[in-house]
Amino acid sequence: MLLKGIIILLSVAILLVFLYLRGRKKKAKLAAYRLPQVTSFLLYNYVPFYVALSHEEKAKFEERMRDFLSRTKITGVDGVTVHDIDRVFIAAAAIIPLFGHADWRYYNLNEILLYSDTFNRQYDIDGPGRDVLGLVGEGVLHRQMILSQPALRAGFIYPDNMHNTAIHEFAHLVDKADGAIDGVPQYLLDKSSSKEWRSYMQTYIRAIKEGYTDINPYGATNEAEFFAVISEYYFKQPQLFQQQYPELYHLLHKMYKPVAA
Ligand SMILES: [Zn+2]
Repeated sequence: MLLKGIIILLSVAILLVFLYLRGRKKKAKLAAYRLPQVTSFLLYNYVPFYVALSHEEKAKFEERMRDFLSRTKITGVDGVTVHDIDRVFIAAAAIIPLFGHADWRYYNLNEILLYSDTFNRQYDIDGPGRDVLGLVGEGVLHRQMILSQPALRAGFIYPDNMHNTAIHEFAHLVDKADGAIDGVPQYLLDKSSSKEWRSYMQTYIRAIKEGYTDINPYGATNEAEFFAVISEYYFKQPQLFQQQYPELYHLLHKMYKPVAA
């Protein structure tokens, strides 16, 4: 009986030591990750959000990018090679929507799959309906995101439009943090703002359908797409967006708090 007790105790102790050492190794690996050398060049040239930050905020932004990349696997699919430019743009797009919320991380994401082109809903790049530039996972794609490599790069390299596919997909993940991709990111809104936001969404979805806004018509698909499309516009063309839609701008500003607290 005594021997059995000792064996159980020993087994538990060995397991605990093993878990502790494994945790330490993982932590050391995450801490050792370094951003690609080209990061600073790319941020200064293609990420105005970063350029507008103060010196201290820039350092925080880079540390959060580093932390994100150390935890997130990026995989090229069907012969796609993942380059440093892809890593930097993905991490920048991930941190931009979260930057005002110092403690937030994407707990609902493990891996990003990079495709060479657009793909259809069956994740087949050659089949019919090749119109999807990005997706966040549900079902078989749980905890995964798919991005088109050309769309990812275009979102940052061409500044004069309202499109940024990667920011769009990360906005979906922010929306999903409360469990539902429904256009209402509940953690970012208090009750009264939530009501106000829903009513604005309905008004503007109608306006898109009736053709009198410059918001990407894809935003009229449903509330979730509206939130993602409008987030792209807000982060990519903040001045224009503020001029055109001051009340939407005000609410999005309340949600994202883009300057770190
Ligand atoms: Zn979408």
